Amino acid sequence: MLEQPYEYTARALVEPDWCRLPGFAGVSEDQWRSAQWQRVNCVKDLRQLRGVYGDLLDGSFYADVAADQAGRATMSLLLPPQMLNTMVPDAVPTTAAMLADPVRRYMLPVASDRLPGDAASHPNAARDSLHEHEMWAVEGLTHRYPTKVLAELLSTCPQYCGHCTRMDLVGTSTPAVPKLRFDLKPVDRQAAMLAYLRATPGVRDVVVSGGDVANLPFKNLAAFVRGLLEIESVRDIRLASKALMGLPQHWLQPEVVQGMGVLAATARARGVSLAVHTHINAARSVTPLVAEAARALLAAGVRDVRNQGVLLEGVNATAGQLLDLCFALVDGASITPYYFYMCDMIPSAEHWRVSLATAQTLQHDIMGYLPGFATPRIVCDVPYVGKRWVHQVAEYDRERGISYWTKNYRTGIECADEEALDRRYVYYDPITTLPAAGQAWWTGQRALRTELVPAG
Ligand code: SF4
Repeated sequence: MLEQPYEYTARALVEPDWCRLPGFAGVSEDQWRSAQWQRVNCVKDLRQLRGVYGDLLDGSFYADVAADQAGRATMSLLLPPQMLNTMVPDAVPTTAAMLADPVRRYMLPVASDRLPGDAASHPNAARDSLHEHEMWAVEGLTHRYPTKVLAELLSTCPQYCGHCTRMDLVGTSTPAVPKLRFDLKPVDRQAAMLAYLRATPGVRDVVVSGGDVANLPFKNLAAFVRGLLEIESVRDIRLASKALMGLPQHWLQPEVVQGMGVLAATARARGVSLAVHTHINAARSVTPLVAEAARALLAAGVRDVRNQGVLLEGVNATAGQLLDLCFALVDGASITPYYFYMCDMIPSAEHWRVSLATAQTLQHDIMGYLPGFATPRIVCDVPYVGKRWVHQVAEYDRERGISYWTKNYRTGIECADEEALDRRYVYYDPITTLPAAGQAWWTGQRALRTELVPAG
């Protein structure tokens, strides 16, 4: 009997023992389960990182983190203990194990992860690579798809991910990236969003995001969701929170569970689907506490908890890693695998991105193992287009790594653009994944750009 390419094994979830980390050695279960304790003990800088790991990690590791923060990082450090505890989960961490760890690789970037020099960024990388800001109908409300909007309620999260697509807005500034700031006060921004939605009945679906809604005081989130529920045309509401994984303690607080129950009951009574979307990229992140939080939301009455991960090299870019993660979500935590996005073309992200060809192969290789409703689609978020399933590409120049895409709707900024539906839109593979001829072509392009930009 031949083996299957992927062998399914039901695995029990495990909460790693936080006492193996010197900084958390004396922490009680009650403290660990406290959202307040988790927030107070987040790691925000090198000193606090040393406080957790002490001499377990070499000085070279701390220097590597410091060099990245000083030179390349697009996001500042912010790591709740819950998330740190899922790095090297089954052993006392060593420097080598930390460097190889998939969660560490995207949540705690080091300079030696990045590609050197110019290669770190694609020449066409951009801060707001999806042009969300350009598509704001009112401040923070991106109207890209005809029937859907994205409401960015705030610009902070309980954790900052190295590859964050909204790196131009979310988080505190880093030496490499001074952040944009909202102009309006939160209350005025939210009022403007609700007014726009009341005046735009063609929008039926609202993703409430940020940042991460777990950083809003719950009463403020509830007020906004109640405002949405009062708009007859809004039929789908999805709350986006990576904290369901990074800080599940937030979603387990009794007042939050009870408040979600009230919102879910109102939504149900009005025939509106209220769901929670999270962002989990590695199987080891799905712990019993994450499962408990997801199931508490389902028990409170939300229609579904879904996962939108990001496809990242060194984290989850093999069929086995994706399937392990999806089975941990479905079997262990009742979370529905939904999408894996290709990593967006932000600066300094080339070491995380994979080619479209790789994404297509991965989509092929994960089919047939999971239930159909829980088989995630791997999608490319094409600038000025939106999500396209990776097999929808119209044309693909594999040598230069340029894929061409079409679309079947106008974004909010193209209402008067007659050519929007006939145009082709591009996405680029990482240059290091191209054959020699393609890499040489890009070297020529970079030289051309340098010549065109006057020195000085
Ligand atoms: S949680 Fe989401 S918005 Fe926040 S840093 Fe991570 S990817 Fe960005």
